[in-house]
Amino acid sequence: MHPFTHAAAGWLIAQPGGSLRDRKLITAAAVIPDVDGLAILGGGDAYSRLHHTFGHNLWAGAAFAVFTFVVARRRFNTAVLSFVAFNSHIVGDLLGSGEDWPIPYFWPVSSRPYSFVPPFQWELVSWQNILITVILIGAIVRIGYKRGRTIVECVSPSADRSICAAIQSRLA
Ligand SMILES: [Zn+2]
Repeated sequence: MHPFTHAAAGWLIAQPGGSLRDRKLITAAAVIPDVDGLAILGGGDAYSRLHHTFGHNLWAGAAFAVFTFVVARRRFNTAVLSFVAFNSHIVGDLLGSGEDWPIPYFWPVSSRPYSFVPPFQWELVSWQNILITVILIGAIVRIGYKRGRTIVECVSPSADRSICAAIQSRLA
């Protein structure tokens, strides 16, 4: 799936997180698997060899959860939600990244690739991914209206305040 869709899902999972810092960590956990997509910088070959490997596996998810446990305010809560957010990325990719992207979830211990099959698997550019993204944005706007924050808080709290003010005045 598209990184924004992963981030949106992660930020929604982060809502029980205590502080902005903890919500940022949990949101990051939903995007961090695509760090192996940076292999694109090494060319197409490196990308097809490395994408869905060192970022998209159980150990990377567990390691990031431990990292959040160390740096978060509400440690246990943030570590658990980070692990959930990380795995929402894995499930999202299994669903909506097309059939040529199986995930060896236990890599490097095992290279056994896992994949879903249609109808639980669709292309990256698909109505399913668009629909999911629209639903996630709808949920984010609703939280912006009710609680005065959106995913933009992860990048700019001041821009987020303006966005929430606009949402609240439109929907009021
Ligand atoms: Zn991914």
